[in-house]
Amino acid sequence: MTDTAICWFRTDLRLHDNPTLAAAADADELLPVYVFDPYWFGAADYGGPASFTYRKCGTHRARFLRESVADLRASLRERGSDLVVRDGDAATALSTLADAVGADTVHLATHPAPEERAIERRVRDALADDGVAVETHWTHTLHHVDDLPSGVEGVDDTFTPFKQSVENDSRVRETVAEPSPPSLPGPVDVGDLPTITDLLGAADGDERERLDRWPEPDGADRVEAETTDDETADDRAVLLFVGGETRALERLAEYVWERDRLREYKETRNGLLGADYSSKLSPWLAAGCLSPRRVYEEVERYEAERVANDSTYWLVFELRWRDFFAFQTAKHGATLFRPGGIRGRDDLQWRRNEGAEADFRAWARGETGIPFVDANVRELNATGYMSNRGRQNVASFLANDLGVDWRWGAAYFETRLADHDPGSNYGNWAYVAGVGNDSRDRSFDVLWQAHNYDADAEYVAHWVPELASLAAADPDAAHEPWAADEATLADAGVTLGETYPEPMVDPDAVDGWGED
Ligand SMILES: Cc1cc2nc3c(=O)[nH]c(=O)nc-3n(C[C@H](O)[C@H](O)[C@H](O)COP(=O)(O)OP(=O)(O)OC[C@H]3O[C@@H](n4cnc5c(N)ncnc54)[C@H](O)[C@@H]3O)c2cc1C
Repeated sequence: MTDTAICWFRTDLRLHDNPTLAAAADADELLPVYVFDPYWFGAADYGGPASFTYRKCGTHRARFLRESVADLRASLRERGSDLVVRDGDAATALSTLADAVGADTVHLATHPAPEERAIERRVRDALADDGVAVETHWTHTLHHVDDLPSGVEGVDDTFTPFKQSVENDSRVRETVAEPSPPSLPGPVDVGDLPTITDLLGAADGDERERLDRWPEPDGADRVEAETTDDETADDRAVLLFVGGETRALERLAEYVWERDRLREYKETRNGLLGADYSSKLSPWLAAGCLSPRRVYEEVERYEAERVANDSTYWLVFELRWRDFFAFQTAKHGATLFRPGGIRGRDDLQWRRNEGAEADFRAWARGETGIPFVDANVRELNATGYMSNRGRQNVASFLANDLGVDWRWGAAYFETRLADHDPGSNYGNWAYVAGVGNDSRDRSFDVLWQAHNYDADAEYVAHWVPELASLAAADPDAAHEPWAADEATLADAGVTLGETYPEPMVDPDAVDGWGED
């Protein structure tokens, strides 16, 4: 009897090191499938206490994802197979397809985050009703979940002991070889890729009303093109983030080998401008276009052939941060996403009133009057990317200095980031907001950070053009225009409250600013 399998691609949009695909390819016939489930694209209720409505996905990630799926389809076609694409509820789409091709087994990558798990359960239930077997595979992290020294429940809630335990008592498995895809079962309509407008929809009626309070930056709903290219991308962006495994592997080779930047990663990783201060691999890792084990093997090869130093160690160190948050998500589930986080802190009173909403909107538009914060949020809005340094500062400003519910900020990042990953995003936000895995105060002195990491105010000039002349004349004044004398402001054409906002907080009164 012919053994027929479906490989359901989720956040593992690649052929290299893909255990799900490798296992599915043992069947006689294989149907590769991707489902654009509306769940991930429309209005969503956050859920739990003090729930709110937000937009799950904006144009940057929708475009990146669409490109990634198109690239996967092209690669499968080159190998004589194809990718069936459906637009709808995943459980319905998969059970319909399983029925149409007489599938025996559906292979899928399991993911530790609660929403992904809930969808997985629905898919399992639908397929069980049809008598189709489901096999799950772990594909997302550097260390395999089965190789954790004390299992998921034993994962430490602080990073350093976690890192030590995996460094000392775990290993990174070798990458899995790419299989030759078996032939496709019977005739199936392969389906067209939905457009970005189809995916994000022009929200109307009930959905529009629910989203009305969710901030949308100018032009956020404007879709210039279905794919990114030099014409459509914002030319201020650090990099042209084009989705798909092909570009992911090119970027890895470019960063590590061609530009030879791995050797200085640790010294440059706190940069703000340019393609190569950090690897910029995050969107591809998040969509699974790139396997973290593949990055690890590339680092090992680089260490053998060029240099092994603190920087080569540090890139893997950062991948372990990513693992840490993934395993924290697996361990704590929905608790990680609650206002009080995994520590269940109920001593923090998050602001959620109308004033907080106004503050949140100003923050999300990049109009707080704190140039370093505004520059970073505007970069996010325009490109879907923000540096790690920027993320820490804007998160700290919203949660610690404005006291606004940190989950609003995290959800806003979810909408806008091209590289959104539930564990890394909500885990980092919770950590900065003081409800995460570490009891130390994670508040940032945003002004000190601005002067230190953007000493020439080049970054502010890049993203806040109304302060560019001021930045050229007096970089310190560009970070604190409220403190500049009138003549300096007038010469640079800056009028606070008119050409650029007054600061929305009194910088002299913010706890923790100016103490370093
Ligand atoms: C508030 C906040 C929200 C964040 N949200 C996300 C998110 O949704 N998705 C995401 O991938 N990263 C997130 N990060 C982590 C980090 O900022 C990005 O991974 C990094 O900036 C991506 O750029 P890069 O690929 O050049 O990173 P590099 O510095 O080159 O690091 C290499 C890889 O290591 C991983 N990594 C690095 N730093 C971290 C970290 N602090 N936590 C987890 N993984 C890390 C990423 O996969 C990254 O691609 C967030 C950080 C903060 C402070």
